[in-house]
Amino acid sequence: MKAYPHLTRPGRIGTMWLKNRMIMPAMGTNLGNADGTISDNIVNYYARRAAGGIGLVITEVCSPEHEGICIPGEMEIGDIKFMPGLSRIPHAVHANGGKVALQLAHAGCFSTEALIGTRAKTPSGIGSLQLPGENPRPFTLEEIRDLIQKYGVAAKRGRICGYDAIELHGAHGYLPLQFFSPYTNKRDDEYGGSLEKRARFALNVIREIKAQAGADFPLIYRMSGAEYVEGGFTTEMACQLAIWAQEAGADAIHVSAGTWDARIQNFFDVMAGKLSSEGLNLTDGIGTSVWVPPHYTRRGSMMHLAAEIKRHVTIPVVAVCSITPDMGEEMLAAGDADFIAFGRQTIADADFPKKLLAGRPETIRTCLRCNECLAEVMNNCGLLCAVNPEAGQEYEVYQQCLPTRAPKKVAIVGGGPAGMQAALTASERGHSVTLYEKCGRLGGQLYYASIPDFKLEFREYLDYLIRTVEAAPIEVKLGIEADVDTLKGGGYDEVIVATGAVPMTPDIIEGDKADILDPLAVLDGQITPGQSVLVCGGGLVGCEVALQLGEKGHDVTMIDLLDGIAPDMAIYSKWVLQARLAEAGVKIYAHHAITKMEKNDVTCRNLETEESVELTGDSVICCLGMRPDRALLEALIEDGSLPVTPVGDVNSARKLMQATQEGHAAARLI
Ligand code: SF4
Repeated sequence: MKAYPHLTRPGRIGTMWLKNRMIMPAMGTNLGNADGTISDNIVNYYARRAAGGIGLVITEVCSPEHEGICIPGEMEIGDIKFMPGLSRIPHAVHANGGKVALQLAHAGCFSTEALIGTRAKTPSGIGSLQLPGENPRPFTLEEIRDLIQKYGVAAKRGRICGYDAIELHGAHGYLPLQFFSPYTNKRDDEYGGSLEKRARFALNVIREIKAQAGADFPLIYRMSGAEYVEGGFTTEMACQLAIWAQEAGADAIHVSAGTWDARIQNFFDVMAGKLSSEGLNLTDGIGTSVWVPPHYTRRGSMMHLAAEIKRHVTIPVVAVCSITPDMGEEMLAAGDADFIAFGRQTIADADFPKKLLAGRPETIRTCLRCNECLAEVMNNCGLLCAVNPEAGQEYEVYQQCLPTRAPKKVAIVGGGPAGMQAALTASERGHSVTLYEKCGRLGGQLYYASIPDFKLEFREYLDYLIRTVEAAPIEVKLGIEADVDTLKGGGYDEVIVATGAVPMTPDIIEGDKADILDPLAVLDGQITPGQSVLVCGGGLVGCEVALQLGEKGHDVTMIDLLDGIAPDMAIYSKWVLQARLAEAGVKIYAHHAITKMEKNDVTCRNLETEESVELTGDSVICCLGMRPDRALLEALIEDGSLPVTPVGDVNSARKLMQATQEGHAAARLI
């Protein structure tokens, strides 16, 4: 038992009492309908978070007018036709014991003409670095006044729909920030120029919301505590804005950091060698990832901004940014914040607040900070999670993990993430489960993936899986290689094969294949490469081996066929990985086809110039991919006497998300 007395005690934002100090911040899901209306899926997604015990759910962005959307299918409230659907979310959240705030967000320069059917409006016609092809125009004064009024109408509608509060999004480059920032606001009228004039838009919106929705209707103002871009606003200016926001009627300040442009600009500056970790610290997540810091970054890199703003206001302050429950508890105890927002952790384990309330943090399924959820959304798909097979599919009947009426004897072969997930789901449903793992430990590829120093969350997730398997009524047989006879002799009704994948050994190796190093053995410390290392392959394994060795002082060169590295990785994670590789001095030969690998040499062809390039090193590591280990699967299929389901990398080598989803699905179908 571990107590979290500060996180678990009730708190108040304006007139709204919350049962604890844990908040789910707004995160995009793409779970709504394409026309901006509410789907069953999104209602159930939020209801599930409320059922998990979070004190307050804050919805994803909802625009007060159609011209303010920046994502296809984004929630809108600029027309009363959206209200019946929008009211379903508070109904569902309240039915599950929670409270919910509607986040009002206008994208300004992040809207596109293709999406909204007209040129986007921004304070001064300045666009975003992320949309170089767009041609936004400045707001007229009349349009500004009209939009402020629309924010008020939207908040009033939100209250009528049943929301407990409004969060006004003024962080990350959304419109109130675009007005506040000297980087994007060059106006010389009442809404531009001095600090006071640049703050006027945000403050007038706050006043209008209070005027239309009621002074007693709670309003959280979300803001960036610093802009982190040259020519942008500072923390000192942000503190002044927070003071004014309080005076204008805000009931709480939610402190994030940065803007979309900041992370793009900082990334390019680092890659060009103009910026280093001595300045905007990349591994702090400030430079390139900002509000979705990946596992390559330090946790809690914005906590100091919340603490600074807290010193300037008397209303509650919400802190956010990869804060663990322990860090959050400490921050509340120190008086540096009043509430803690847990973002991706609420996706990875909706029940984590209940687990903290029960004093059982060890049962929390850790978020990996892998950003695969975000990658799904950015690929215009609905949110999914690498470790939580239910996330984003709460509504789907097929996802429901119901107790079985006909318990079976199930063998699962392979103790990696797919096998362990299958074992947990099958056991939870009431089947009798035996899990075979041929080596002496559970983990599979996840064991190796969790070794680098920058993969702490993966180690925590692996430990969670192992602990949960050990606590379940699952018979684990380590060090036993199950074959067809073992499985036939065991009297099993069903077999799930999760034997995973092994590194490929390509034909281009010349000489003794054993001279080419196995990346998994290098990661595991079984082999120590020489000082200069040639890493063949710039996929995820290659990049992480290169980074691990580069940061340990090796002279690393990585070669890959493609233009860029880690093509499957979520972009905001990849930016930080690229920046860290650059800072570790890893040289990258992109767009080079490897034609020969030997003990100390790699020959490759530059695909642009067709020139042959010879590289020499003390060691060569082959990271050219994995191949499914299908020997047992094929033998079982050949034998034909047992029902067999393959899951995870044995189907084809992919990511953790597929392993989790397939392991869960196979066990659910038994
Ligand atoms: S996909 Fe990754 S980052 Fe997103 S919630 Fe799941 S574990 Fe966390």
